[in-house]
Amino acid sequence: MKVLLTGGSGFIAAHILDFLLEHGHDVVTTVRSEEKGQKILENHLGVPQSKLSYVIVKDIAEEGAFDEVVVSDPPFDAVIHTASPFHFNITDPKKDLLDPAIIGTTEILKAIKARAPNVKRVAITSSFGSIINSKNHPRIYSEEVWNPVTLEEALEDPVTSYRASKTFAEKAAWDFVRNEKPNFELATLCPPLVLGPVVHYLNSLDAINTSNARIRDMMQGKMKDKLAPTGTFIWVDVRDVAIAHVKAIELPEAAGKRFLVTAGYMSNRDIADYIRKNFPESRSQLPPENTEGDMPGDVYKYDNSRSREILGLDYRSLEESVKDTVHSLQAVGV
Ligand code: NDP
Repeated sequence: MKVLLTGGSGFIAAHILDFLLEHGHDVVTTVRSEEKGQKILENHLGVPQSKLSYVIVKDIAEEGAFDEVVVSDPPFDAVIHTASPFHFNITDPKKDLLDPAIIGTTEILKAIKARAPNVKRVAITSSFGSIINSKNHPRIYSEEVWNPVTLEEALEDPVTSYRASKTFAEKAAWDFVRNEKPNFELATLCPPLVLGPVVHYLNSLDAINTSNARIRDMMQGKMKDKLAPTGTFIWVDVRDVAIAHVKAIELPEAAGKRFLVTAGYMSNRDIADYIRKNFPESRSQLPPENTEGDMPGDVYKYDNSRSREILGLDYRSLEESVKDTVHSLQAVGV
């Protein structure tokens, strides 16, 4: 298939890109600058331009941002939309998080419907943020649950703003499909905290993606005296997230579905324990063994059976993920 992948410079998208190529697909990815596009090509020397190229989309929140990009010859068969801001350094929640997430999603869907009739499947990276109800956890989280966040609450604090951006964007996507009845079918992926090796270009560890920052911080001794709160107690490895996206465009059974993509529970204490076990030389930077963790005794349950049964996911372990992440950070220079 020929696939348009948005946000190719990102942590998760870089793994999706590699997995698409491994599966024999041709990829055009969007990036915000020539420099970021060139870094991707430099990372894939030997892959011909017919298999991998990039196009520039400076800001997904602009009206018509994808109008030119979705038109291609030969035409695209599928689209994977990952681009969306994931950080908490915001000054204006609407401009910095909500608009790019929501408008970015509706703009790409509108452009595909109007200008790319050959596209049969669209997969969108949503988030467990669009599922979690942090004020009133249900007994069990599954694809049936939606974050009930309101627009008013969305402006309260950066974490709520981010989760709201993902909730409203995913809802807008499902509404679009329901109301506009386009030629394509939709699948959405809802991963919780994503950890795993960095394969995208990083000029320094200061630029690390948000979800891996806790592993960098631990390696740099920032949690030596006190572990930061874990926040979300379920996680998934980035390589499994990448597989999920590619299966979501390949498999007929994935059409019309949301997927909670999680390997299971974790806490910052578990991460520290696995770093200590596998990298004993970094002990002095880590919190001491038996540091008190913050995993509540009655933590919510989750159901990932749909992702296993339909997408065929067989999740990696936290130990493997932490080990591979630390190796990749060491290569950048912890
Ligand atoms: P990254 O920050 O590494 O990737 C985000 C990507 O989106 C980058 O390519 C970034 O471009 C691009 N982007 C952000 N804002 C804009 C914009 N206004 N215009 C154009 N491009 C933009 O984070 P992740 O890889 O972690 O996130 C990818 C997706 O996964 C996001 O949709 C995120 O919400 C979702 N997700 C991530 C989780 C995690 O734990 N990592 C968990 C659940 C969902 P640039 O590099 O140029 O800034």
